[in-house]
Amino acid sequence: MRQTSYLEISQSAYQSNIEFLRKDLGPQTEISVVVKGNAYGHGIENIVALAESNGIRHFSTFSADEAWRVFQTSKHQSTVMIMGMINPDDLADVIATGIEFYVFDFERLEQAISISKKINIPAKIHIEVETGFHRTGFEWDELDWLASLVKENKEYIELKGLCTHYAGAESISNYVRIRNQIKQYRKFKKWFSNQEILFEKYHTACSAASLLYPETKMDLVRIGIASYGFWPTQETYMYRFQSLPVDNKNPLKRLISWKSSIMNTKKVKMGDFIGYGSSYMAPRNMTIALVPVGYCHGFSRMLSNQGKVLIGGVIVPVVGTVTMNSIAVDITDLEKVQAGDEVVLIGKQGNQEISVASFGESSQQVNYELLTRLPQNIPRKIVD
Ligand SMILES: *Cc1c(COP(=O)(O)O)cnc(C)c1O
Repeated sequence: MRQTSYLEISQSAYQSNIEFLRKDLGPQTEISVVVKGNAYGHGIENIVALAESNGIRHFSTFSADEAWRVFQTSKHQSTVMIMGMINPDDLADVIATGIEFYVFDFERLEQAISISKKINIPAKIHIEVETGFHRTGFEWDELDWLASLVKENKEYIELKGLCTHYAGAESISNYVRIRNQIKQYRKFKKWFSNQEILFEKYHTACSAASLLYPETKMDLVRIGIASYGFWPTQETYMYRFQSLPVDNKNPLKRLISWKSSIMNTKKVKMGDFIGYGSSYMAPRNMTIALVPVGYCHGFSRMLSNQGKVLIGGVIVPVVGTVTMNSIAVDITDLEKVQAGDEVVLIGKQGNQEISVASFGESSQQVNYELLTRLPQNIPRKIVD
């Protein structure tokens, strides 16, 4: 292996997450696995293969490039849905391939219709409505025009879905806002039904909404973070704790482990400064190990003198600043440590564990951000 670290992705953890989610969601609701951000850092190709082997046939991406990767990896003609960016230049390819996509403004709708007329293939669209997230979506006062366009162009569009997105269902402080969004979505749905405009699937929920607001589940849910084994927030977990099965109070399991190895070790005298500048002075005679992982690999500079790693089953601290390519860690109290020994940055070693959450807290990143910042070129391998 030429790279300085690698990521392991556990297929048994993935399987158990999907099993839990299916049970929790019930038989009426399909799961769309969200694979934006390189599948939350896990690698789109890895996750599509794992998900399909667990029976998933629906994937959501942010952009067209991600959708292509899903499309090319899928072995089961899974549905691919783009929730965000498509360059107008790419729209014809997207429609021709049968990739589904969100429509949240008239520009995209009109482009889709005109391309569909030209290539004689209907565009598979999901109409996104504005319920209070205030990022994208059709407004209430745009509905008449929208409905007339949709009716006039029936043969050029397939109405795959009516959707919206909640503004922070993972936090109780947004409770009133989410409740209003649910109400608003129902109003939209009813309005379309009254116009005899029906959609194949109604969908609104992300992980947090599915776990906390059962009425948001509907036909399809778009699950990201929970499928990768994380509660959207600690709060979400606390809220659900009572209702989890007695024999399975910890049903979501992290898939990812991040490992490297020691590059070299070195003795440092008391009073010497370690690394750049003077942020760490050795308080005693020390032995340090250099680990070839730095901020260019996603190990944040915020972890200077803060981060922890596992060596020989023991948690040891980062000493000095995180540099572009490496960190120094204190191994003074460990015995028989040498170059080549395994270093765990995230995951288990012996009886100890460094979780993404604890790692994230000390680098002030949330799970989502930390995962997606893991560079694409770190090798990822599937393990049991
Ligand atoms: C990212 C995203 C999701 C998934 O969110 P999680 O919190 O990871 O489950 C669902 N819907 C939309 C529109 C998104 O952008």
